[in-house]
Amino acid sequence: MPNKGGFNLRLDVPPDEDSLAKFLTQSGTFRHGDLLVNMDGIRIVPKTDADAPPPPIKPLDNQISLADVDMIKVIGKGSGGLVQLVQHKWTNQFFALKVIQMNIEESARKQTAQELKINQSLECPYVVACYQCFYQNEAFSIILEYMDGGSLVDLLKTVRTIPEEYLAAICKQVVKGMDYLHHEKHIIHRDLKPSNLLINHRGEVKITDFGVSAIVASTSAQANTKIGTYHYMAPERFSEETYNAKSDIWSFGLVVLECATGKFPYPLPDEDDGWVNYFSIMETIIEQPPPCPPSDLFSPEFCSFVSSCLQKDPKARLSAQQLMEHPFLSMYDDLHVDLASYFANAGSPLTTL
Ligand code: ATP
Ligand code: MG
Repeated sequence: MPNKGGFNLRLDVPPDEDSLAKFLTQSGTFRHGDLLVNMDGIRIVPKTDADAPPPPIKPLDNQISLADVDMIKVIGKGSGGLVQLVQHKWTNQFFALKVIQMNIEESARKQTAQELKINQSLECPYVVACYQCFYQNEAFSIILEYMDGGSLVDLLKTVRTIPEEYLAAICKQVVKGMDYLHHEKHIIHRDLKPSNLLINHRGEVKITDFGVSAIVASTSAQANTKIGTYHYMAPERFSEETYNAKSDIWSFGLVVLECATGKFPYPLPDEDDGWVNYFSIMETIIEQPPPCPPSDLFSPEFCSFVSSCLQKDPKARLSAQQLMEHPFLSMYDDLHVDLASYFANAGSPLTTL
């Protein structure tokens, strides 16, 4: 998959002691602005006196602690760290545990703090739930809802292409998730790609991974940083100073087209050649007309849906709210497609039971 050979614009260099001290207090609490995380959990406190000692975070009775879970197996590895399947000792419930090491540079730590804050504020059936965060032994552990079908990357490995009727049902859920993020929470995801769309045996599709997300109302410095995997990046993100929620719509359009055709819509070099690849893909995305599905293989509604997302001018792209009304999303409603069986038949490599 394109993101595997690619690179993220994050630098994994050890932090200098001064900058680490700004983030860590002697009590083993990670502090960044109004965010506090330690081995007992996470808390967001209003900024009063920046130098005051952090208030204690008390573990709540009904919350999960790391001591309450058994590690089952590693289920994924990303640029930030490992994702493990864990099981709660008393309820037998499964969770995904994402561990992010903190021996990373300051901007990456800020991203992690941003991810934790955003995760805490989200509650939507189309976004992967985050139950708890801890900071211990110089690593963040995030307990996430376990999605037992893995990501769209795993699904595509087995089905190769996703037929339109199933894709419509998948897109409906992702568009609802994006509508929630963009229009209710004012959050731009900034790293939508197949590995950040997860599926489960109930036929649910959810957006995850807010590591490089931005709250639109936040400082312009945050909104301007170019981070994340670049393959799915909208043209304006390579050239312009700022960008908005429409950049996510472009990335989503590329993901949908990849799911339909089974391959990343732009030509990719065989070998990862770092910056050379970055500039060649950037040039193609900026210079070439946007990719589109072959019209003899797909319905006009599908072609129009993809083209509504893959407009090079962000103003011409439909918003998530507008995409909800697009005829493609409802054209297969009468078929009552069963995504649960479709995902199950695809034989997820991650199924636990
Ligand atoms: P990158 O770090 O480059 O963005 P990535 O998205 O694959 O790549 P991670 O977000 O660390 O990296 O996830 C690694 C893999 O772990 C995912 O591809 C997915 O298969 C799996 N995974 C992540 N979160 C969950 C979850 N909540 N439930 C089940 N599997 C998950
Ligand atoms: Mg991810």
